[in-house]
Amino acid sequence: MKTKSVNKERYKLCPNCGNFMSISEQDTYCYLCGVKMIDSCPSCNEPIIYPTSVFCPVCGKKLVALKNE
Ligand SMILES: [Zn+2]
Ligand SMILES: [Zn+2]
Repeated sequence: MKTKSVNKERYKLCPNCGNFMSISEQDTYCYLCGVKMIDSCPSCNEPIIYPTSVFCPVCGKKLVALKNE
């Protein structure tokens, strides 16, 4: 059964290196590479709920640029 939780954890992701932190952190930029963090999918605006996301689970767009490609 699907229940919608309003307290779903959200994360910010660095689209460059995949670094992540909780949405409650104040950081706007990645402390590893200085790129602006994203807190939702740039394509469909879906909030990021998986800290290790590489692709958006809703629209399939890439969220993090992988170095080894
Ligand atoms: Zn980074
Ligand atoms: Zn998306």
